[in-house]
Amino acid sequence: MPDFRSPTGIWAEFDPLEYATLGAFRRDPRKVWRFYAPRFSMLGEAEPNAAHLALAELERLGLVRAVVTQNIDRLHERAGSRDVIEVHGSIRTSSCPSCGARYELADVVPLIEAGDGAPACLSCGAILKPDVVFFDELLPEGALERAQALAEEAGLLLVVGSSLEVHPVAALPSVTLAAGGAVAVVNRTPTWVDREAALVLRESAGEVLAGVVAALRAGRLELAPYDPAWPRLYEEEAARVREALGEAVVAVEHMGSTAVPGLAGKPVIDISVGLRRLDVSAEQVAAMERLGYEYLGEFGLPGRLFFRREEGGRRTHHVHAVEHGGERWHSHRAFRDYLRAHPEEAEAYAAEKRRIAADATGLADYWESKQPYADALFARAWAWYAELR
Ligand SMILES: [Zn+2]
Repeated sequence: MPDFRSPTGIWAEFDPLEYATLGAFRRDPRKVWRFYAPRFSMLGEAEPNAAHLALAELERLGLVRAVVTQNIDRLHERAGSRDVIEVHGSIRTSSCPSCGARYELADVVPLIEAGDGAPACLSCGAILKPDVVFFDELLPEGALERAQALAEEAGLLLVVGSSLEVHPVAALPSVTLAAGGAVAVVNRTPTWVDREAALVLRESAGEVLAGVVAALRAGRLELAPYDPAWPRLYEEEAARVREALGEAVVAVEHMGSTAVPGLAGKPVIDISVGLRRLDVSAEQVAAMERLGYEYLGEFGLPGRLFFRREEGGRRTHHVHAVEHGGERWHSHRAFRDYLRAHPEEAEAYAAEKRRIAADATGLADYWESKQPYADALFARAWAWYAELR
């Protein structure tokens, strides 16, 4: 969107005193609407950019508390931001200055056309005023107070795409700094707070913030350090699983990275169940479901039946049912027992996994990247295990 304040912005071409004050609106509302009407339709069609989308994602990740904006275009809301403080109002609604009726944007746009450029109130005929803050108007009640409270609490105030020239919002960074928080700036041109900011990036807000989100997504593949509680959690769960699956069970064992001290991994307890015959009855599935497991069947891996348990959206347990004494049974055991017997190999593998996780762009990339190392390691494990058997 074209900006308002820069040397090439809208206010360089239009005198705001003639188009964006309450006085101007009272003198000649049609003239004010000749300025706003084309912007209304343009703003209604504009799509959120990469910066809007990234800020919404940062909020979903729990890293952004709220967005304080002087923009009136609703693009933060449309990008998915939930807590948006619009200190200059927005084009979302227009109100009748005479009878107080309020109209949604979708209803104002046809009224603009019907009213020859200026929308008239359907009940009293007065020309509507957009609910944006004009230059000589006070900011919406509560909005500035909320913005100031947020600035005061903020550990980090991020200034994005603002030259910090319009008061009182321009003073928010000083509120954060005075309260002991830090300020970072992503803006093409200098701002007054640059000298006191912890970080200043004179770059495109979209590119910088999309990059931040990508880096954080990769960083979310953090592997869990070994937790000594895992073996106990396994024991407790294994007893329940054994009971649910009943007579068909020959053996239950703890596998995966939670079973090997020092082997960094996902904090999911992997339980291997060796069955006499690889089929489970409806009764067994129902008993597992009562424990909170979802039955996924072979799930793309023939010879292995997969149950998954989640708590609060987080996977906590996997149960792999395989034929006892079959190839899958032994391959799982070979890997686990080899790593238990060779702690230096487990440690090296954990370091390799952490290194790959730090660089991975996603889970699929992580799995693929660690595969060659895992394959070579498994070959050593299998040779060792074969000799032992
Ligand atoms: Zn009215």
